[in-house]
Amino acid sequence: MTAGGFYAESLDGDYGAGAELVESAPFLLLGVAYRVDVHPEPLSLPIGWMPDPKCASVKKPDVIIVGAGVIGCACARLLARRGAKVVVLDRGEPGGEASNAAAGMLAPLGEAHEPGPFFDLLRESAAMFPALAKELHDETGIDVEYRREGLLEVAFGDDDERALRERARSIAARGLSVETWDASAVREREPAVAEDVRFGLFLPDDHRVDPVKLTLALWRSAADAGAEFRLGAPVTRVIDEPNGVEVGGERLQASEVVIAAGAFSGLIPGALPRPDDVRPVRGQMVAVESSRRLLRRSVKSAHAYLVPRDDGRILIGATVEDVGFDRTVTASAVRDLLSAATRIVPAIATCRFRDAWSGLRPRSSTDAPIIARAREGLVIATGHFRNGIVLAPATAKLVAAIVSQGAPSKSATSRMHSRHVR
Ligand SMILES: Cc1cc2nc3c(=O)[nH]c(=O)nc-3n(C[C@H](O)[C@H](O)[C@H](O)COP(=O)(O)OP(=O)(O)OC[C@H]3O[C@@H](n4cnc5c(N)ncnc54)[C@H](O)[C@@H]3O)c2cc1C
Repeated sequence: MTAGGFYAESLDGDYGAGAELVESAPFLLLGVAYRVDVHPEPLSLPIGWMPDPKCASVKKPDVIIVGAGVIGCACARLLARRGAKVVVLDRGEPGGEASNAAAGMLAPLGEAHEPGPFFDLLRESAAMFPALAKELHDETGIDVEYRREGLLEVAFGDDDERALRERARSIAARGLSVETWDASAVREREPAVAEDVRFGLFLPDDHRVDPVKLTLALWRSAADAGAEFRLGAPVTRVIDEPNGVEVGGERLQASEVVIAAGAFSGLIPGALPRPDDVRPVRGQMVAVESSRRLLRRSVKSAHAYLVPRDDGRILIGATVEDVGFDRTVTASAVRDLLSAATRIVPAIATCRFRDAWSGLRPRSSTDAPIIARAREGLVIATGHFRNGIVLAPATAKLVAAIVSQGAPSKSATSRMHSRHVR
């Protein structure tokens, strides 16, 4: 650990996310409830857009969504398109917390190394992106930069190479797409990668998206479908009789409240049965800019990843730090990220430095997302940790299914309550 409290070994090279299949719940869409024990300075939106104020007048909402990150916006869009009267409350602006801080990798294989329900959920959600990106473009004119160039993992030393070769074997044995590239194939396909890279594992089905544009497009599409967004509206309490929330000193009622407040979900009284079900995990990122296109694919080593953007930026991420709600961008993290990135692509050293930022990933106590009914009138959709961008479409589908099923039986509610959201 360095003086700045930054754990070099905890750069995004660890793949800690596991999933726990916790219960078969007949009222959930996939037949299961996933609990991925789960991830603040707002980032500005690149495109100035505000919803038409004339639609801001839902008097009696069916559904209140707390939080307008990628999860809240995706849920709002789907529910509004299905005819629900939706009000989304956010204390800041859409995407202004973890969602706009993300790299936007859609990487089921990069994140889940083992088969199981978590991997299946990641894959199902990732597979929804081609259609979602097209719909969002048709509806809003925003290109969310869904790109399918794949993810290249590179090895420098013997140990790295052995580990990647073993991973390639196990991925292939599961019948999934994977390629192994020798050093010359890596250099031929990604010429900017360092000459001493020994081996590459290429995952053609791990894609990417621009999370800032994605959240913006989901927000805009949801608003066009009739969802009302009240921004600068901090929810101070979730209440159950009558069902609703306290916001700005007033009570707002609805049949269903959906908690999508990311890493802050446990700070809202009444939102989670146990406040420490979700805690923040800081991730710091750096962006540099190159005048020529350095990378086509996302590339990662054991110590950092690089994600190219259409505008010439390369995003470099990310730290994984247990520092509470502190969103400081530290000098040591910027130094270590740039150093790890330059090791992969030496030309990063001559790129223009653009920006550095941080976000708080919502991490649940089991590392799996919590997408479940907590009680009658209260649904939780948080704890997406490192995978909230890729999991947004499937989460919205699950939440819409839970909401459409209405109140579960008393016994189902108490089972869910005790086993999922203790
Ligand atoms: C550095 C970094 C890199 C990442 N890279 C990836 C990646 O490549 N791929 C991927 O899939 N995921 C990635 N993630 C994870 C992903 O960003 C998160 O899982 C996801 O954004 C969580 O979305 P959310 O909507 O739950 O939370 P957030 O985006 O944090 O949104 C929560 C919202 O709730 C609002 N809120 C909080 N409290 C209240 C309140 N009391 N009242 C009203 N509103 C409230 C906040 O203002 C905020 O807008 C990354 C995260 C980080 C930090």
